[in-house]
Amino acid sequence: MNYQEKIEKTVEFIKNSTYAVALTGAGVSTESGIPDFRSPRGLWQRFKMITFDEFIINRQARQEFWEMKKELLPELLNAKPNEAHYALAKLEKMGLLKYVITQNIDGLHQLAGSKQVIEIHGNNREALCIDCGRFYKIEEIIEFLKEDIADVRCSNCGGVIKPKIIFFGESMPEREFNLAQTASSQCDLMLVVGTSLQVYPAAGLPQLAYHSGAKLIFINQTETPMDELAEVVIHEKAGKALGDILKEFKRGC
Ligand code: NAD
Ligand code: ZN
Repeated sequence: MNYQEKIEKTVEFIKNSTYAVALTGAGVSTESGIPDFRSPRGLWQRFKMITFDEFIINRQARQEFWEMKKELLPELLNAKPNEAHYALAKLEKMGLLKYVITQNIDGLHQLAGSKQVIEIHGNNREALCIDCGRFYKIEEIIEFLKEDIADVRCSNCGGVIKPKIIFFGESMPEREFNLAQTASSQCDLMLVVGTSLQVYPAAGLPQLAYHSGAKLIFINQTETPMDELAEVVIHEKAGKALGDILKEFKRGC
C-alpha cells in the first residue's frame, strides 16, 4: 500500500468501527516542541531518568530531578497543541473516537479539545506531598524552583513533594489504568500514535486490544516492535498523517 492508500484504508476502518480509541505517546507532542524520550535528540540523551524509589529516598536524585524540571517546565507549559492533537479532538467531536488513552503528561490533548482523555502516566499540572497529601498546583512549584530551593518540600509538613507523574517503577494510577484496560479490551479499533511501545504496562494495551479482536493502526515515524500486529502501519509524522486522515474524511463527505 502506498501512503494515500493507507490513509484511505484508515478512514475506512474508522468509518466501520463502533468503538475506536487512540493510544498516544510522546511522538504526538514532538511537533509541539516537546522532546520525546527515545529519538536521537530525546530526553534520554540529555537527562538521567530516575526511578520512583530513588526519588523518594535519595535527596541528591530529587535535586537533579527538580533541576531538570526547572529547565523543562517552562517549555512544557508554553507548548501548544499541534495538528495531531486537533485531529484526534475533531474525531471525538465527530463521534468517531471514544477515548484518547495517553502516556503523555503535557495536557495537550485536553487543550486541543479532547474531552475523554485517560492519562495513564499522570500529569504535570499538579504535585502532592507524599506525607500529608497536600496538593500543589504546578505554578506553586515553579515559584519554589525560582527561589532556588534544591529539594522541594511541603510547606505544610516538610514532606517530599512528588509531581503527579508516574515514575519508572511506580505503580499505575488504578482508576485510569483500569479504564484504559477496559477501553482497550472493548474497542474494535485502536489508533496507536507516536509511541515506541517500549514502556510497559502501557505497551501491553495494543496487545490487549489485538487479542480482544480489535484492529490496530500504527502512526509512528519509526518502526515499533509490534508493527506486524497492525492492519495499517504509517511511518510518518503524526500531525501530517492525522491531518491527511481528516482531509480524507472531508473529501468523502
Ligand atoms: P518514546 O520517546 O519512547 O517514543 C516516541 C516515539 O514517537 C518514537 O518511536 C518516535 O519515532 C516517534 N515520534 C517522534 N516524533 C514523532 C512524530 N512527530 N510523529 C510520529 N511519531 C513520532 O515515547 P513513549 O512511547 O511515549 O514513551 C515515553 C514515556 O515518556 C511515556 O511514558 C511518556 O509518559 C513520557 N514522556 C512524555 C512526554 C510528553 O508528555 N509530551 C514527553 C517525553 C516523555
Ligand atoms: Zn505535607
